[in-house]
Parts: sequence; structure tokens; C-alpha cells
Amino acid sequence: MLAQNGHVDVRVAPHIDAITQWRRDIHQHPELGFDVHRTASLVAEKLRSFGVDNVVEGVGRTGVVGVINGNSIHSGTTIGLRADMDALPIVEQTELDYQSNTTGKMHACGHDGHTAMLLGAAKVLCETRAFNGSAVVIFQPAEESGAGGRIMVEDGLIQRFDIQQVYGMHNLPNMPLGRFGMRSGPIMAAVDTFDVSLTGKGGHAAMPHLCIDTMVVAANVISALQHIASRQADSLDSVVVSVTSIKSDNDSYNVIPHTVKLKGTVRALTQEVKEKTEQQVKDLINHTAKTYGASADIQYWHGYPATVNSDNEARIAAEVARSVVGSTNVDANVPPVMGAEDFSYMLNECRGAFVFIGNGESAGLHHPKYNFNDHAIGYGCSYWLALVEHLMPAN
Ligand SMILES: [Zn+2]
Ligand SMILES: [Zn+2]
Repeated sequence: MLAQNGHVDVRVAPHIDAITQWRRDIHQHPELGFDVHRTASLVAEKLRSFGVDNVVEGVGRTGVVGVINGNSIHSGTTIGLRADMDALPIVEQTELDYQSNTTGKMHACGHDGHTAMLLGAAKVLCETRAFNGSAVVIFQPAEESGAGGRIMVEDGLIQRFDIQQVYGMHNLPNMPLGRFGMRSGPIMAAVDTFDVSLTGKGGHAAMPHLCIDTMVVAANVISALQHIASRQADSLDSVVVSVTSIKSDNDSYNVIPHTVKLKGTVRALTQEVKEKTEQQVKDLINHTAKTYGASADIQYWHGYPATVNSDNEARIAAEVARSVVGSTNVDANVPPVMGAEDFSYMLNECRGAFVFIGNGESAGLHHPKYNFNDHAIGYGCSYWLALVEHLMPAN
């Protein structure tokens, strides 16, 4: 199975079995949000056992940060490498022998793999130290919800550890194993969410003329929102508007409801498009409701910003990935993904790049049958190692 193993750094290869065991252990013990106490303790304990120079727990509540100094630190360069530790509230259906031991919690986004790969890189970096500067390994909680990345940044992550560039990695199902993808500019979307309460006038379903039928208003609102992506947005901009929930205050056959509530999400790749879309969503909802004599109460929540790679660091990430897996296995202009990622908060503070690593054929992220591919571990660890040694070459 490890036919592509020729690309794995020889200093990483001997550790892959151990790293795989850590990954499966983390997989079996998933934790949610900031409540990643077991995982964070395991990470801190391992970092100490590797001889990491400084291990700091509790950064951004349950985040863990480790500082690894090279043979020399005279370059004054410090780079951050980030992994995420949290799982999802999903009932696992993989039937793996190391599947989740907690019903309703599952590592369905591969953060178990991200954490294990960064731990593996930390171990090898501690052994080799063939660089001039400091590598800061960052293990964050609450990526899936709770903005752990933002909370770590607000806890002074970048300044406290003097991080000058920061790099992140996420596995991508159905990108072939041994491949990397990245791009300069936006690589993942900004996500906002909204709640709408539409109020008309309820009454007997046989006498709609005496009512303001909020169901019909809701149907028109949902239809109208489709015009944003298809008609109002520039066709060269990426924007997604999805209504994901509709609930009326009535559950019978013969009553026109008084209120109907909608939920939805908006995704865009730039701040400009995001702001424009927010206004369009609000206008369409308000105007459509008004057209039918109903009213709309909109609550609009700003979520994670777009994940935007800086040009030079995206180029460096591509160069480093090529040095690991060869140029045919690196797509330096990978299409952006319309999911969101709170590594964006770190990139908003600091230059850097987020890359995708192929997970091979697998169920999609957040699917109950998803599993991180252990065969990606060698490539991921080798990339981290190569990145550190490229950015901070030993004298
Ligand atoms: Zn996820
Ligand atoms: Zn994820």
C-alpha cells in the first residue's frame, strides 16, 4: 500500500507506525469544541517526552503550543505550524476496530490525523534540529465551532511566541494520496449564517383571503434568494446562499401559520463579496416579505472569515510540497473550497499558507463513514519537516 513511500523523508519513515497508533488512539477518544482535555494532555505529554524546548498549555483555553529551537536560533526566524484537535457531534458508522468509544462524537474531519502528523513532525524536529530558528507547533481546539483559532489569536498566540509566518494543513477526501494542493489568495470561504422570522397573519386554511399566508411568503423568499448567486453576483465571483431549515408555528392541515422561521448560510471568498451578499440577502428578504404584506425579522451572524493565503508563502508551500512529492503531485492552483476554516484568523494576523493533503478515495468530510487515511501521515510529516528546514536553513 505504501508504494509512494519513496517520497517520505527517511527521518520520518521509522516513526510512521508509532504516529499511526497515536492517530488511532485520538480517533478512538474524540472530544468536542474546547472540551479537548484528554487530547490536549496527550499532546502536551508527548511534546515534553520529545524534548520540545517549551510546552505551554491553556493557550486559547485548551490549546497547546510547543516551541522547538533549531541547532541555532540566530536567524531570529520563528514559524508556526498549526493542527486542530476537535471532533464532531456525529455518530460514527465506520466499524473500525478503533472507532469512537463515545456515541455521538466522531473524528469525521481528520483532525485526529492533523494532530498526529504535527506530533510526528515535532518528534522528528526535536531529534534532528537541522534548522536555524524556532518552529512553533500549535494545537488548537474548537475548529468546527467556537472559533478556537480566533480565541488562540486573542490570547496572544502570534505575539507571545513571536510567530512571523504560520502554516496550516487539511486533508482532502478524493484528492489522491501523496498529493498536495494550495493556491495564493482565498483557498476557503467565509461563512455567515442567518435566522429569519417571517410574520404574516394566520387563520383558517379555507379562507386565505382573510390571512397573510406566511408559508407562501417563505416560499417566495427562498426563491428570491436563489437570484443572488444566479443573477446578482458577478459570475466570476463565488457565492453560495443556502436556506437549510424551514419551520412554521403550525402542524395541522387546516391552519395558515402566523410565523415561519428560516435558517440559512452564505459563503463567499472575499470580504467584498461577503458584504455585498449580506446586503442582498437582507434586502431580498425584507422586500419580498413587504410585497406580500408580511414582515421579516432577520438575525445575521458573521462566521469565520475567508482563509486567504499570502502570495509568497503559498509559493513557498508549493515549492516545499514539490520537494517532498515531486512537481506532478502538487497543484499550486487548486480550486478553493467553499467550506470555512478558522485558521483564517491566524492568517489575518500573520503571513502564511494553508494547504490540502490528499486523503485518497474516502467518504467526504463530516460523513459518518469518513476516516483519515493513515497512508497520508508520511507525506504530511515530511512536508512539515521540509517546510521548517526550507524556511530556516541550517548554517
Ligand atoms: Zn470539519
Ligand atoms: Zn476540519
